[in-house]
Amino acid sequence: MTSEELKQFKASLSITSVAEALGLHVERGRFRCFCPQRHANGDRTPSVSISEDRGLFRCWVCEDVRGDVFNLVQQYKSCSFMEALDWLKETYPFLLSGGKSGSQEGSPKKRSVQVAGAVERSSRAQESRSQEPREEEDLQPLLEEKPAKELIPEDERKKVVLSFLKMLTPVDGTPAAAYLMKRRIFKPVWDRMLLRTITDYNALNRQLKETYSLEVLQYVGLFNDKGNLRYYKHPLIFPYLDPLRRASHFQARAIDSSVEPKELHLKGSVPFPYNMTALDQKKGWIYLCEGVIDTLTMLQQGLQAVGIPGVRSFKMQWLPLFKEKNVVLCLDHDEAGRKGMEYLQQVFGNAGIRTIILGDGLENIPVNMKEGEDVNEWFGGKK
Ligand SMILES: [Zn+2]
Repeated sequence: MTSEELKQFKASLSITSVAEALGLHVERGRFRCFCPQRHANGDRTPSVSISEDRGLFRCWVCEDVRGDVFNLVQQYKSCSFMEALDWLKETYPFLLSGGKSGSQEGSPKKRSVQVAGAVERSSRAQESRSQEPREEEDLQPLLEEKPAKELIPEDERKKVVLSFLKMLTPVDGTPAAAYLMKRRIFKPVWDRMLLRTITDYNALNRQLKETYSLEVLQYVGLFNDKGNLRYYKHPLIFPYLDPLRRASHFQARAIDSSVEPKELHLKGSVPFPYNMTALDQKKGWIYLCEGVIDTLTMLQQGLQAVGIPGVRSFKMQWLPLFKEKNVVLCLDHDEAGRKGMEYLQQVFGNAGIRTIILGDGLENIPVNMKEGEDVNEWFGGKK
């Protein structure tokens, strides 16, 4: 597990679910201290508070009963960090990248996503072997939120990504447009989500090298080890727009079905769900989809939707964004997707947010999603 994977794993863990999995009884964000002898009445009125979106817990009496999700497991089980990590990995295999979740028998699509994870990981490892600790003993200090060494400030990094996106072409009339139309995603949605494409890879590669140093381009994650733009086979670009319609993150997609992985993310973690503007803090329903294509499919149908690359990329710190919403979970109807939806139901439920699963209660109706199907196929898109 690399430090980046560990960070992602931690961010996707619901501290409330973990407390419950340990056998603690959590009610309204509180549980009874596991050092009851230090409390009057054995802590009959629970003294430990949980902050789900910050991933922290704290006893109001005991100085030493507090910390993050790893501390919780360590303190409750009186075990080491590595033992706590092992227990969490065993309990939540579907939150690990590369997924050891027994979903290997899933649909071809699901398999390809896992391959994607693996390939992405190995290429990232190649790209930054020198910076990333390979030994697991090195992982613990990283949990103390020590900022990574920055080549350029975060603001500058965002500007470089934004200027890259500005160099791209709208999809109209390109092979990317044909790809989207085949999936029944049309121009109003392309324009609304500012979809972009790379039409002349060599010219773009050159232009970027003329504008920025190679060191910066590699630091930002646009360029690979060999000193070229990473998206040679992934010309369709989905910017992650913030409420000001600016983007500092994007996903690149292959439009040739023989390319693996199908999707490449910019280096680092996903900052917020795709189409986060839909999380407008107003009451209503929101469709939570797996992947950008499924999200665009919902938007094309006139529904409010946001996307996450997969259940393991859902971060607890995003929960406040969903506060006023009822959530329709639209993950793929296969084994991995179902496990993910079950977990997300728990996570949203702990935060007091109502969820339903897309298609649930419609089991006997022919329009229901079939085994292995995703949202885009359900709405008539073709692979
Ligand atoms: Zn206590």
